Amino acid sequence: MAGKKYIYLFSEGRADMKQLLGGKGANLAEMTNIGLPVPPGITITCEACNEYIRLGRQFPEGLEEELKARLKDLEALNAKKLGDPKDPLLVSVRSGAPVSMPGMMDTILNLGLNDESVKGLAANTNDERFALDCYRRFIQMFGDVVLGIDHDKFEAILEKHKERLGVKFDNELTPAALQEVIAEYKDLVRKEVGRDFPQDPQEQLRMAVRAVFDSWDNPRAIVYRKINKIPDDLGTAVNIQTMVFGNMGPTSGTGVAFTRNPATGEKGIYGEYLINAQGEDVVAGIRTPKPIAELKKEMPDTYRQFEEICALLEKHYRDMQDIEFTIERGKLYILQTRVGKRTAAAAVKIAVDMVEEGLISQEEAILRVDPDQVVQLLHRRVDPEAKVQVIAKGLPASPGAASGKVVFDADEAERKGLDGEKVILVRNETTPDDIHGIVQAQGVLTARGGMTSHAAVVARGMGKPAVVGCGDLKIDVGGKRFFVGSLEVKEGDVISIDGATGNVMLGEVPLVEPQLSGEFQTLLQWADGVRRLKVRANADTPEDARRAREFGAEGIGLARTEHMFMGADRLPVVQQMILAKNKEEREAALAKLLPMQQGDFYEILKVMEGLPVTIRLLDPPLHEFLPSAEELLVEITRLEATGQNPEELEAKRDLLREVRAREEFNPMLGHRGCRLGVTYPEVYAMQARAIFRAVAQLKKEGINVLPEVEIPLVIHVNELRRLRQLVNEVADEVKKETGVDFDYKVGTMIELPRACATADEIAEEAEFFSFGTNDLTQTTFGFSRDDAEAKFLPQYLEEKILKENPFMVLDRQGVGKFMRMAVELGRKTRPELEVGICGEHGGEASSVEFCHLIGLNYVSCSPFRVPVARLAAAQAVIKEKKDKEASYSTE
Ligand code: ADP
Ligand code: MG
Ligand code: MG
Repeated sequence: MAGKKYIYLFSEGRADMKQLLGGKGANLAEMTNIGLPVPPGITITCEACNEYIRLGRQFPEGLEEELKARLKDLEALNAKKLGDPKDPLLVSVRSGAPVSMPGMMDTILNLGLNDESVKGLAANTNDERFALDCYRRFIQMFGDVVLGIDHDKFEAILEKHKERLGVKFDNELTPAALQEVIAEYKDLVRKEVGRDFPQDPQEQLRMAVRAVFDSWDNPRAIVYRKINKIPDDLGTAVNIQTMVFGNMGPTSGTGVAFTRNPATGEKGIYGEYLINAQGEDVVAGIRTPKPIAELKKEMPDTYRQFEEICALLEKHYRDMQDIEFTIERGKLYILQTRVGKRTAAAAVKIAVDMVEEGLISQEEAILRVDPDQVVQLLHRRVDPEAKVQVIAKGLPASPGAASGKVVFDADEAERKGLDGEKVILVRNETTPDDIHGIVQAQGVLTARGGMTSHAAVVARGMGKPAVVGCGDLKIDVGGKRFFVGSLEVKEGDVISIDGATGNVMLGEVPLVEPQLSGEFQTLLQWADGVRRLKVRANADTPEDARRAREFGAEGIGLARTEHMFMGADRLPVVQQMILAKNKEEREAALAKLLPMQQGDFYEILKVMEGLPVTIRLLDPPLHEFLPSAEELLVEITRLEATGQNPEELEAKRDLLREVRAREEFNPMLGHRGCRLGVTYPEVYAMQARAIFRAVAQLKKEGINVLPEVEIPLVIHVNELRRLRQLVNEVADEVKKETGVDFDYKVGTMIELPRACATADEIAEEAEFFSFGTNDLTQTTFGFSRDDAEAKFLPQYLEEKILKENPFMVLDRQGVGKFMRMAVELGRKTRPELEVGICGEHGGEASSVEFCHLIGLNYVSCSPFRVPVARLAAAQAVIKEKKDKEASYSTE
């Protein structure tokens, strides 16, 4: 195709041409056009790169001619010629894809130098050292990135000469020494690639352009694209830019700067520079750079000009910028600008400050902050400045960081914890028997188990850090120690865990407290003014409920009652209830549990005064409250061996029989949820009674409470009809017995496909729906989450069979379709039906957006994620509005 334009002068481009010119090229063009001091240059488009790859690594037709022509333009702009032995034009060749990609080819500087033109450069600048320095850098960079010669081989030669002359830095080498370095570099090239270093600048340029194109498909780049989900067909642009020199002596230098502090968001230029240096010297750590504030003293005029440019760029791009600059004999040049990366704390501060400065609107500020990133701000975390020694990595099961002494059993954890010691409970996996230990520990570390293992779920529920499934850990429980490879860690040794990254670290690490900074509160208030979804929290304890309120929760969307069965005082009674031989025995046990449960509900409802609280009746299979068969077998064997205590032995044998009788082939699909309510109505009746008595008590105290009783795992309206009637009867009894009248709702969790498909019928009996999207995902996919995540899901994601883990990001096409159906059918029967979501998805941004789009009333998530959901819910509204506007304007 003749006449296709593959090359643009900087003056022909714009910032919005990133797709064609790459990010770097588009921004260089934009800066050129707003009059900033950018050395002139040209950009070969990403399209040319794609063509090159499509043609099997060949320049598309016409590209070489076009390059020659545009090069003439560039030469004219500079009044210099590439390869001119007297006054050579030198250029840099820089890659630049549409999205920033660290894996791409490194930049080549000083291209155009050869044995002749280096003399011209020396004569012209009257600086031989400088010219030779440029040449040796060029051979080194070209040799490394284009010819593929190991960088270290060049460094070794350089080092040798520095040592010989007894100097520390390369800018101290004499011209004579540099001559020798160059000669040795050229020998090295000849030896390594079997040809002389190319002397023809046109050839140098062609080879460099080709190398940039090729680097699009180098393994580093491919891996980076995969991890960051960047499409493979974007291609990269090539920028060929007139060189400016920071290595021309004491009034020259190079540096990088942010327009605001990228760690804190503080306003003011933040960066570093080096005098008499070139390119990446600042970041390469060859000399220690100086903070930018020094430049103010060293070159006040240049600094002032830089300040003005920073302000101008921020205003122009309306965001914090990351800028590269070079000073050549006192004259400032800008070589790159891009939106600066920043921490969550900085993102929040910058967004809010920029609204106050009139740079952006509140809605833009809301969109500027990544909800997944602010999770960082809501937990205690490892001080990012700290040096830590990571010894192992597990799954990041529950965010937050903690340090403490290693303990291997729950009793010990409890004992030490109550004594005020900080401990980390380390187990192969945890069971309900460990709860008392987890309560007293700073965090939990397990060798086995997935993101929904007991330890993970319990720790998340308690807001405690947890790292699970840390396979590198070899625990020797008897020896009270664990190993990571040959490293031994004993009971009492201090470790730290970071549940946000999965890192396990040796020793105590400095932690920083979570902060809802003033700016963050402001941003969230703006978000509250925009969002339509309400945000509730999942909370099982009064402490969680309190924290949830602090973070802005507008109710509790899920209070699970099973955790209330697990404390050391409760579990034996719960076991009596389960093992009861008849109804009387069971009711006796339930009678003991009733006041305890009533106390639990009283506390939570009280904390949540004035706000709705959804309480789910018992859900897990009962055998979860019993010891495991293996454990019992071990004890039985032990008792048999000692021959003592025959009564205890008999009791254990009985218990084992009971445990065996309750074993299920697939507990996830077994005797659980409302199936328990159907088979043991007295259990649900007890729970309902505990709820309503607490309600009556609070009403008497003048406290307004809004209880919602939730029946889990319903598949048929008949289940709900029966259980709702049971709940209603208990409510009537309590009203009569207490003489207090109160309101409540009865509804259901929607977590099975059949419930979605028959939601119109179910809505006849349900006053609210709440999607339990973990089970709904498991049953829609036919995956058990733990098995999937441990065994095959990683490969599914790797090979892109699935784009996302459906347990983390709601599957809109499958699970989402069921949800949409359930909402529509449910509201057909009962237009005022209140619908929410209480799965983990309720705190994940993309899932929150989907909930907004299908018209839910609220999302409910862990207390720590409430701010995330508030922000995400507001973003959903703004994005929906934008999409609508875009679709009108294209009509
Ligand atoms: P990266 O994408 O890795 O940042 P760059 O293309 O920005 O690579 O360049 C690497 C270094 O070389 C930067 O310090 C940049 O400022 C410098 N540099 C690039 N082009 C020129 C030039 N024409 N003159 C002087 N320095 C340059
Ligand atoms: Mg680089
Ligand atoms: Mg750069």
